[in-house]
Amino acid sequence: MKTAIKKVVIAGGGTAGWMAAAALTKLMGKHIDVVLVESDDIGTVGVGEATIPTLHIFHRLLGLKEQDVMAATNATFKLGINFENWHDVGKDYLHSFGFLGKDCWACGFQHFWLKGKQQGMVSEIGDYCTEHLAARQGRFAILPNQDYNHAYHMDASLYAKFLRKMAEANGLTRIEGKITDVQLHDHNGYIKALQLDNGELIEGDLFIDCTGFRALLIEQTLNTGFDDWSHYLPCDSAIAVQTKSVNTPLAYTRSIARESGWQWRIPLQSRTGNGFVFCSKYMTDQEAIDTLMANIEGEPLNKPRVIKFKTGTRRQHWNKNCIAVGLSSGFLEPLESTSIHLIQRSIVRLMQQFPSQGIDQTDINEFNQQIKLEMDNIRDFIILHYKVTDREDSRFWRYCKNMPIPASLQHRIDMFSQSGKVYKYGNELFGESSWIQVMMGQGIMPKEYHPIVDMMETEELASFLNNIKSTAKRKVETLPPHFDFINHYCKAN
Ligand code: FAD
Repeated sequence: MKTAIKKVVIAGGGTAGWMAAAALTKLMGKHIDVVLVESDDIGTVGVGEATIPTLHIFHRLLGLKEQDVMAATNATFKLGINFENWHDVGKDYLHSFGFLGKDCWACGFQHFWLKGKQQGMVSEIGDYCTEHLAARQGRFAILPNQDYNHAYHMDASLYAKFLRKMAEANGLTRIEGKITDVQLHDHNGYIKALQLDNGELIEGDLFIDCTGFRALLIEQTLNTGFDDWSHYLPCDSAIAVQTKSVNTPLAYTRSIARESGWQWRIPLQSRTGNGFVFCSKYMTDQEAIDTLMANIEGEPLNKPRVIKFKTGTRRQHWNKNCIAVGLSSGFLEPLESTSIHLIQRSIVRLMQQFPSQGIDQTDINEFNQQIKLEMDNIRDFIILHYKVTDREDSRFWRYCKNMPIPASLQHRIDMFSQSGKVYKYGNELFGESSWIQVMMGQGIMPKEYHPIVDMMETEELASFLNNIKSTAKRKVETLPPHFDFINHYCKAN
């Protein structure tokens, strides 16, 4: 017999817990009771400050105004990520959120650019993309008729507070306490209640596990299992430290590859988030702390913290009446800032498939299948940055360059290397422009271009390419400096 879902219990109040709480109360609060349990003593992971443009969709669903979110979270705009020393030491490229050039019905812009390159009539491919140019020049604005694909750098703890306020105003019950036990129904092994340290029992019909790396419900209780991907992505540790800003914030995240890992710099309005992701097989925690502290700008605002993780995914993100959202569902390192996106996708997917009349195994299977496709795509995209490199200057980079990779990624690399083709399947997050920017940035230059390009006369091709480039340039020239715009935009609120 199926049980109608009347009460949802969210375990954990980090970014995942509060995003789930804000969405469920706002969009389904009339039909269900939502309770969130969190422990101030345990706290949150306290990182996760770079986002990607899909967050707009979530904010639109919640009816949030961009200026409100930015003002509340000390946010800056983000137009992409600059990858430094990834292809090789001393080289860099920007993966921007923009679209490259223009498509024709038969093939992507890269094919036109590739022929232009052969003829010596092009500059770097990013020059044909408005967001790329704007990021490089530190310019940005929200304009009525021009939509620049952008995301944010924001203070994760302020974001959680902002969402908490909203969820509580929409009727959420928050309970402070430590979950010490999880009780199951005898007849089907579904979760019945969370037991708190003060003896209180929190019963529910559906449980959302947002307890972070602890994965208290989905793993510690339901033993769901984990697919370990650390042979593809060997980094397993991170150091995080915040510093006072000394420079005007950039409109992109910096990702700087180092001997056994990579460093991030995430510029907020008044401080910078810094971190170093590394592989403990090749470097001790102390060496990693020393590396990070030697490469920060500005006064540290806290002591460096060490965070340990295992890359991979829970075998099922939805198991029985428990859905894992956030770090409890698995982890992919923050190289492309995809974790908050995955949180949002799970929440939206849950609401689209919400089992009001009770849980069916077919719903569970569909949910898990969709997540698997999405996670595999992101995993492959992240591996690409490590695998396709000229670096061989350390044991870490030699491992990455020579490691086996998933067949799905090898196929993409082979296809692009030979013919410049890239395809996006279904709901995959990363589209053509992203794959092209990173594949070319990491050093792959396709051997061939699509033959349809040869239908254009050389002069026609030159004028086509020049038009795109000069339009992008003209647009960017009219934009104000990124930080001037933030000051104006958030004040105008
Ligand atoms: P947490 O923040 O760990 O929250 C867990 C919650 O569960 C807390 O409230 C805790 O109190 C509660 N809890 C746990 N156990 C109990 C218990 N027994 N009883 C009661 N409550 C309990 N993502 C991005 O999108 N962009 C980034 O730039 C990015 N950078 C990252 C860098 C690093 C090094 C790491 C590790 C992650 C990064 N992420 C990033 C991921 C991002 O931090 C997380 O996805 C996000 O913070 C969500 O975390 P969470 O809510 O799942 O877990």
